[in-house]
Amino acid sequence: MELSDLAQRLGSGRLFHAYIVTGADTETRERAGKLIARAAVCQAERGVPCGICRDCVKAERGIHPDIETVRREKDAAFHNVESMRALRTRAAVMPNEARRGVHIIAEADLMNAQAQNAMLKVLEEPPSHAVFVLLADNPEMLLETVRSRCETVVLTPEEAVLEDKLLETAAALTGAYLREDDLGLTRAVRELEKLSKTECFDLVTALRREALRRSGEMEPERRKRLMDTLDTADKMVFANMKGNVLGGYLLAALCGTE
Ligand SMILES: [Zn+2]
Repeated sequence: MELSDLAQRLGSGRLFHAYIVTGADTETRERAGKLIARAAVCQAERGVPCGICRDCVKAERGIHPDIETVRREKDAAFHNVESMRALRTRAAVMPNEARRGVHIIAEADLMNAQAQNAMLKVLEEPPSHAVFVLLADNPEMLLETVRSRCETVVLTPEEAVLEDKLLETAAALTGAYLREDDLGLTRAVRELEKLSKTECFDLVTALRREALRRSGEMEPERRKRLMDTLDTADKMVFANMKGNVLGGYLLAALCGTE
């Protein structure tokens, strides 16, 4: 599924205790993990993540105390068993602020056998307030017993799903920003009025990719301004803002040299 499908599913359906996120690339999997985390801590009952509650805002800024990402130790080929045991201890503790504590395990397929067995113990009796998200490029490396206890989310590589029209709009918008061409920005932004919610989501993804591709052409300050703007745009898309609202925001945030 695409990230937008996952967002929709989280917004309408129930949340699982454990997910395996696979498919697409590392960056997309990490974004999916963060999306699940936001949905898990959001205070809204429906339409999560709402994008505006205290927990959503903290999650968005990467400072939510109840969301952690466990990474492999530097120079270690695998997650080790100690790290998974420590995770188990932390997961047992009640969250600080949100209803749930979220534990994202990056490169979860790189757990050695001992670590996987420790993880399995957590998944067999997950604390009711805990959500685990295992990001995995090769989920077949995980034990069948681990896999069977997780809801698997298979992401579609984004290259395959972005339409030419959206790529063109993203390229036009980024190009105009690079040239500091406010008129060009205004024209590109007009295209957003026609976009559906899913297309808006894809457009922000396309913009991010285009911004990264051309980041060498920007002064650090302008690059930061663009990236910050796209972070906010992401949040607006998650909060179900329409294309014309998103376009208005992009225009206001990117026009002028400031
Ligand atoms: Zn929220």
